Amino acid sequence: MIGSVTVVGASLAGLSTARALRAQGYQGRLTVVGAEQHPPYDRPPLSKEYLAGTLDRAELDLLTPEDDALAADWLLGRTATGLDTDERAVVLDGGERLVSDAVVIATGARARQLPGPALAGVHTVRTVDDATALRAELVPGARLVLIGGGFIGAEIASTASDLGVDVVVVEAMGVPLAEPLGTEIGQACAALHAEHGVRLITGVPVQRVLGADGGAGRVRAVQLADGRELPADVVVVGIGATPCVEWLAGSGLAVDAVSGGVRTDAYCATEVPGVVAVGDCASAYRRCAGGPTRLEHWTNALKHPAAAAATLLGAPAAPSADHEVPYFWSDQYGARLQFAGHRLHGDQVEITEGDVDAGNFLAVYRRGGELVAVFAMNRPKPFVRWRRELASRATAAA
Ligand code: FAD
Repeated sequence: MIGSVTVVGASLAGLSTARALRAQGYQGRLTVVGAEQHPPYDRPPLSKEYLAGTLDRAELDLLTPEDDALAADWLLGRTATGLDTDERAVVLDGGERLVSDAVVIATGARARQLPGPALAGVHTVRTVDDATALRAELVPGARLVLIGGGFIGAEIASTASDLGVDVVVVEAMGVPLAEPLGTEIGQACAALHAEHGVRLITGVPVQRVLGADGGAGRVRAVQLADGRELPADVVVVGIGATPCVEWLAGSGLAVDAVSGGVRTDAYCATEVPGVVAVGDCASAYRRCAGGPTRLEHWTNALKHPAAAAATLLGAPAAPSADHEVPYFWSDQYGARLQFAGHRLHGDQVEITEGDVDAGNFLAVYRRGGELVAVFAMNRPKPFVRWRRELASRATAAA
């Protein structure tokens, strides 16, 4: 029986774990530590509606009046700097130690930065403060260079171009999104840029970002490895995210060498009893992937915490990662992209309905003839049917 839980990370995964603990009957002390000053808020709109100015700050809030019943102590603006697993003590900036029976690691990820000095006009987008700062610079006619053609980069490109910004996307790989979706589907998504007047440069890495006034002033251009210079008033670096796990150094918890996430089993358990990890910072074992996988998906941060709570409370039939089919969506240029399942290099992809050129199609991925994933562009209803099919196969196999 546990009587005190400290959740580190006050965002979607931390809040979802707190809710799941209470929903599963936990009545003890609950403390939530968050490095940001803000109570939990939603991140997907930061590159979409909030950046576009069509969603207010208040609409991002995740806490509802019902969450008063969580009776949690919120320590916001406080950063965990260490974890002493012998005592299950979370060490805070300033040296304070929060000792509890269980610890939830929900510290998410931070935007990866380019090396070099920080220049005015160069942005990343992970927090609401980041998005607010970028939004102020997306004025009609501004020249934006987006470094990275992944999902968040593409969404920002789409939002900025709707705002009248002149956008160029630079992607080091030959085909954007080829890693998560495969070349064929990646190409279909990349075509959206050109169709909406956004220039896409692929297969060339960025050499450096150039500042005015001898280099240290406001950004003026992006230099590519082939020597080209792209003039820029604003630059967004969208080259992925790194899990926030540095505070766990020396704790003895295993961090996955590939993904950088805290390793857990399919039930969110680390090798230390009473310590679980959830959301973007966790690398959970998934049978469908054949090993640990770190997902940066909203739905994973929302749903997987139920398993973490059950693990901490010793619930007999906990749900596991193997019951959940990974799912994410992205909104770009008015198109809704959806993906469910797990793709590996070499999976066969087949367009089963619709028309790629019309931007309205559905594709399924198969491995050894077995359905493993589904992707849809602007085809939500059939996507739901395929996602259900994947879910029922996962449940049957779990
Ligand atoms: P986070 O949301 O990263 O929260 C972790 C929290 O922990 C942060 O508040 C951080 O400050 C705090 N923290 C970190 N270190 C410490 C520490 N040492 N001590 C205390 N606190 C700490 N997913 C989709 O599926 N579809 C989308 O369309 C989509 N769009 C996105 C758009 C943007 C711009 C971003 C940034 C993400 C998007 N995502 C999307 C991903 C989704 O938002 C994340 O998967 C989700 O936020 C993960 O939640 P989390 O709680 O695990 O981590």
